Amino acid sequence: MIAARSFEFLSLAEDSAVTDLDYSDGSESPPDYEEVHDVEKMVQNVHNETVYSKGTIFTTSSTDSSLDMNSNNSSSRERILASTVFCIHRMEGCSWMGQLGRLKGHLNTCKKDAIFCVKSCGARIARVNMEDHIMYTCPNRAINCAYCKKPFSSTDIDVHQNMCGFEPLYCENKCGQRIARNRLKAHMVNTCAKRVINCKYCVKSYTADALQGHQIMCPKFPVPCPNRCGENCRREEMERHLVRCEAGAVGCPHKKAAGCSWTGHPSVVDQHLLDNKDYHMDLLLQKTRNQAEYIDRLKQELERANINKDGILIWKIKDFEAKMEEAKASEGLELVSLPFYTSACGYRLQASLFLAGNGAGEGTHMSIYIKVVPGEYDNILKWPFKHTISFTLIDQDPCRQSAVNIVESFIPDPNWANFARASKVEDPDQLGFGFPKFVPHGMLDLRQYVKEDTLFIKIRADPNKGVAV
Ligand SMILES: [Zn+2]
Ligand SMILES: [Zn+2]
Ligand SMILES: [Zn+2]
Ligand SMILES: [Zn+2]
Ligand SMILES: [Zn+2]
Ligand SMILES: [Zn+2]
Ligand SMILES: [Zn+2]
Repeated sequence: MIAARSFEFLSLAEDSAVTDLDYSDGSESPPDYEEVHDVEKMVQNVHNETVYSKGTIFTTSSTDSSLDMNSNNSSSRERILASTVFCIHRMEGCSWMGQLGRLKGHLNTCKKDAIFCVKSCGARIARVNMEDHIMYTCPNRAINCAYCKKPFSSTDIDVHQNMCGFEPLYCENKCGQRIARNRLKAHMVNTCAKRVINCKYCVKSYTADALQGHQIMCPKFPVPCPNRCGENCRREEMERHLVRCEAGAVGCPHKKAAGCSWTGHPSVVDQHLLDNKDYHMDLLLQKTRNQAEYIDRLKQELERANINKDGILIWKIKDFEAKMEEAKASEGLELVSLPFYTSACGYRLQASLFLAGNGAGEGTHMSIYIKVVPGEYDNILKWPFKHTISFTLIDQDPCRQSAVNIVESFIPDPNWANFARASKVEDPDQLGFGFPKFVPHGMLDLRQYVKEDTLFIKIRADPNKGVAV
């Protein structure tokens, strides 16, 4: 009889042999092998596989002392199967406990029991470790590519990663960029800063990042004309273009002064000046003539604007001293007044003054004369001219009451050629009518006839009075 018996299973290799039995009853003789073998077989049937650690399969309770291993009948077998056992993986932490007959069923689901790897790598792994095994250590586990993130088996991953299109590689042109393998070729051809391309103007080869710098100087690069004539030409040809570019043309330096209408490039202006000296001279002369005419016209207009039309002219003679000196030095020097009209539509008169004297007064007197000059209304006036003419040298004494003017007057002689009829042309040599001995030179200093080097002579034409005052 066996009061209590424990079976200890050692960790076994594939042979699954039970090697060490402990007979805790201390009996000298071994138990019936057949019987023990039955139990052993039974356990082996329960679990055919072998990788466990040493542990107690089952223990009969000390009170159950009636287990009869020698019994060969079915009732003792059932009793054995009904005996309570622990899971063979108790030492690894499985706490299952139940009838021996149910151990097999338990082991089908025991977390600590080992089964073949579901990835078919051939290893046996405890169910509880299967997930980790598949994830981390199974040679057949799936590994994601570090670049494309797609899953691969651990045996394929290296091969894949060495050709994965998403692996970033350094550009072979040494531009410093890292580009995915499947885009590297396109990068090197299309966008790489170090790709070699031809300048499309001079056809020399440059890396892309140097091309722009090159084209700033490329002699074949088209540049717009700086004169903005609208033409583009190669940089090396611009100089030649500028010579003939019309937008850059300048005018002849004599354009303003002489009216030369020539235009050309600045580089040929000097030649133009050399070749056209006479032409420019002619232009200048013509321009001078035109200007003289223009000045005459202006003078006439000025005269017309300033002209007196009331028969009275106050003639102001400035710089008397100098003019007197000049008159004495040059014989017959005549000062001529502005013309004036006797009335709005009257005769046009002009006085002349010889400071150093003329005719009978030469060298001793100031002589003064009047003459009728061609006017706008001559054709509708009565001829001969009959207005009384008076000449007054004005005393510039500030006390007007004590002023003593010198006055001379005359009634025109109708037979005097100049008064007889209208003349059509201005005749500078036309003789006037007046007083060769108007004022003796000696009288000029007696009163204030000359003041601030200025002389005033009033000339008056009066149609009514026989004698002017
Ligand atoms: Zn278990
Ligand atoms: Zn595996
Ligand atoms: Zn990949
Ligand atoms: Zn590159
Ligand atoms: Zn170029
Ligand atoms: Zn141009
Ligand atoms: Zn010119």
